[in-house]
Parts: sequence; C-alpha cells; structure tokens
Amino acid sequence: MTSAPLALRVAIVGAGPAGIYAGNLLTNAVAERGGRVEIDLFESLPAPYGLIRYGVAPDHPRIKGIVNSLHEMLDAQAEVPEGEAARRNIRFIGNVEVGKDIDLDELRERYSAVILATGAIQDAALDVPGVDLPGSYGAADFVAWFDGHPDVARTWPLEAREVAVIGNGNVALDVARVLAKHAVDLRSTEVPDNVLTGLEASAVTDVHVFGRRGPADIKFTPIELRELGEVPGVDIVLHDEDFDGVDPAAAANNQLKVMLRTLNKWRERPEGTASRRLHLHFRHAPVSIEGEGRVESIRFARTETGADGALVVTDEIREYPVQAVYRAVGYYGSRVIGAPFDEARGVIPNEAGRVDGEQGLYATGWIKRGPVGLIGHTKSDALETITNLVADAEAGALSAVDSADVLDLLDERDTEYTTWDGWLALDAYERHLGETHEHARERVKVVPREEQVAVSREGALVE
Ligand SMILES: Cc1cc2nc3c(=O)[nH]c(=O)nc-3n(C[C@H](O)[C@H](O)[C@H](O)COP(=O)(O)OP(=O)(O)OC[C@H]3O[C@@H](n4cnc5c(N)ncnc54)[C@H](O)[C@@H]3O)c2cc1C
Repeated sequence: MTSAPLALRVAIVGAGPAGIYAGNLLTNAVAERGGRVEIDLFESLPAPYGLIRYGVAPDHPRIKGIVNSLHEMLDAQAEVPEGEAARRNIRFIGNVEVGKDIDLDELRERYSAVILATGAIQDAALDVPGVDLPGSYGAADFVAWFDGHPDVARTWPLEAREVAVIGNGNVALDVARVLAKHAVDLRSTEVPDNVLTGLEASAVTDVHVFGRRGPADIKFTPIELRELGEVPGVDIVLHDEDFDGVDPAAAANNQLKVMLRTLNKWRERPEGTASRRLHLHFRHAPVSIEGEGRVESIRFARTETGADGALVVTDEIREYPVQAVYRAVGYYGSRVIGAPFDEARGVIPNEAGRVDGEQGLYATGWIKRGPVGLIGHTKSDALETITNLVADAEAGALSAVDSADVLDLLDERDTEYTTWDGWLALDAYERHLGETHEHARERVKVVPREEQVAVSREGALVE
C-alpha cells in the first residue's frame, strides 16, 4: 500500500534566520516527497529577519547581506496544481505576537504543527551588587537601540568618558567597537539618524572590555577581533600581566591560535596617540558596580586558571573609574506563553527539536539550544527539527486541522498585521531613504513601529 502524499499546514513563530531556514527546508523536504505544505510565518515585529536586522552590528554589511538569501526563500513561489492561483510558499504575517495577538492554542488548532523560533532579545542577568545603578546597561538594550529596534527608547545616554564592557564574546566586541568608533565612520552604514546623532555627541575616550578568563579562553571569532585593530582613531591597549604563560602554539584550536597571534602583534605596536582607546583586560571577574546614585567605578577580582583548568577567583581586587557599564554576558531566550519553558537555561525544553511532552510542537534556533552560535548554525538546527517533523508527519503523528484562514481571525480582531508585500514596500522605502540621504547609504531604517506598519500596510511613501 502506498501512503497518501503529505499535506501539511504549518505555523512558524519567529521570522529570524531559524524560522526562515525551517520554512525553506520544510518546503523542500515535503516537495521531495511529492507532498504539499502551506506555511504561515508569524513575527511580532512588522519586518522579518530577527537579530540580523536588530542584532548584527550596522558596520557588518556582509553579515547583514545574509538577508538576501533569506529574502529569496520568503519570496519563492510554490508549485501549485494546474488551475490554482500562484502563491508564495511561505506567507509572512508580521506585527503579530503569538501569546498576545493570537494564542498558541489557537495556532495549534489550525495547523498540523507549530514550530517555535522566537530566538532571544533580552540580556541574561548578571548578579553583582550595583547592577541596577543608573549607568549600568544591558548590551542587548544598547544593541537594540543602535540597530533601531522599534520597542526601545529613541535616545541613549552617552555622557560617559570611561566605559566598562563586561564579557568576552562577539556581542561584547560589537558593543565596544560601536562605543569606541568615531561616529563619522558609521555614517555610510544603516544606523538610524537618531543613533548617529547620539554617537556624534558621545564623550567617550576609553572603553575597557573585561573577560573573566585568560586570552586563551576568549569566545570571540578571529574576524571580529582583527577588525578591532583596524578601527580608525582608536588605539588598542593590552596588559602584559594578562599574557603570562600564554602560548599561542598550545591553544586549544586554530581559531584561538590565530586570535592569540593577533593579540601578540598588537602588544608589539608602539604606544598610540589616538583620541580614543579600547582596552582589553583578561582574568577579571566582576565583583561589584560602585557609585553614589549612579555608576562611578567597577570592581573586579583577578582570576587564575587552576591546575585542573577551572577558574580560580583570587582575593586581589582591582577598581576602575568608569561612568557606564555595559553587561554583555549573554542573551536570554524569548518565551512563548502556552509553551513549556526552562527558566534556568532560557530555552524551550526539547529533544532534537521536538518540544518535550507536546505533540505537534517543535523548536528551532536560539530558543531551541540557547543563545549561542552564528547565523549558519541556525540552518543545521532547522534541518534537525524539520527532519523530525517530517518523520512525525509520515508516521501519522500530526493531527488533522481546522482549515479556517487565520487572517480572518486577525481581521476580526482588527490586528494590524503586515504581509510580505508590505515588507517589500517598507524595504523599498528604506532603500529610497538611503539613496536620497545626504550621506548615500544602502538603507535608512524606519524605526517607530507605527511608521513601519503604516508604510507596510498603506504602501510605500516613495514618490
Ligand atoms: C548583538 C548580536 C550580534 C550578532 N552578530 C552576528 C554576526 O555578526 N554573525 C553571525 O553569524 N551571527 C551573529 N549573531 C547571531 C545571530 O543573530 C543568531 O545566530 C540568530 O539571529 C539566531 O536566530 P533565531 O532565528 O534563532 O533568533 P532571532 O534572530 O532572535 O529571531 C527570532 C524572531 O522571533 C520573533 N519573536 C519572538 N517572540 C515572538 C512571538 N511571541 N511571536 C512572534 N514572533 C516572535 C522575534 O521578533 C525575532 O524576529 C549576533 C547576535 C547578536 C545578539
């Protein structure tokens, strides 16, 4: 007996790279089996692309360019039987937050499966005294500000001359680089105008980046690290004491070897005379943020590596005068009301993408395995989740569905959802703003949510 071809309706929650790769891989997997799948991609923001639009730094246009291939995936036309109207494989439904504008259960009733790809947008907590003092900021909030996220304040306080950035991953480098860079060097990027104006007025002279472990344990990637040394008008400052016993040849992998060589080269540079400095400090565990009413300094305990490789915090305390602290100690996953959530790890508990104890519910991307890894990793993630979803569908484990169109429900609720055509209009409008800007740019982002929704729903305001 041959089984009937697969016929699925699937909802994906989150239009970041993980959700888009999942949609594309599911489309291909079902098509290879001669079946059909209709995919609705829900996104709480009016525009797609998640942290590529609202996380990746504006001076990384090559990475931002990954949206071009994701665009093609969302724009692809489904093969439809003769006589049926052409339609896109994946229907983008933006400005709809699942758990608020529509319940997860309402999706589960309407679709054979729901894939959660909600990623992360908030900072993980850092538990040190003084963390709530004015002048202590989460890196995620600052990133959201400089990338023009619609739900954060339009202005950012940049009066501090000396700034501490806590963390030794790429986000810490992004934050430190954007803080240290002279605003003129960001002019040609897609930073929103309010951000450029804010950065132009920045008083910063010294940005100090602190890592708990030694230089051989950094979590940067070589390209991001190397880039720091090329920022115009900014000197890199390193401290010999942090490099005692560090041997690039003995590094755990090639990436680390390359980065240790980069750091050593910088150590050999003559002392610079630039107006801004970016200091990289290692072996510093944060102890407390100090200040009367606002941040005035930060204290660290020096650390060592024990014989077993474990981190040993010593009682040697160092204090640095700073007027602002940025905590880049990781992101925390975006939960979905109605879905299980592991509070400690900030992820949806799952086994290879199948959400624990929930038939027909899947997870992918950062919300599946935690907020680490590059965009490319979300593709392999999605492959695992989709392989299991398709296996479940073939085994008959995905139940039949109510075929009512979810857009009718959203219309009934007067939800101002945005569509793929709406995104094309907003994209064209932002590019137009870029072309006509006094400093020609690829795009100028529209920041306020209402404005994004208006351009998406009412058509481009381009003459
Ligand atoms: C500051 C920063 C810089 C980075 N730089 C790089 C880089 O240079 N190169 C690189 O390869 N990687 C970089 N990354 C990593 C990359 O951004 C992630 O690997 C990737 O975005 C994770 O994809 P995701 O789809 O799982 O999550 P996200 O990109 O977070 O997408 C999740 C989407 O789900 C939406 N959503 C959340 N909750 C709901 C809900 N309830 N209803 C509807 N929608 C919802 C969100 O709005 C978002 O659009 C960076 C990350 C950060 C934080």
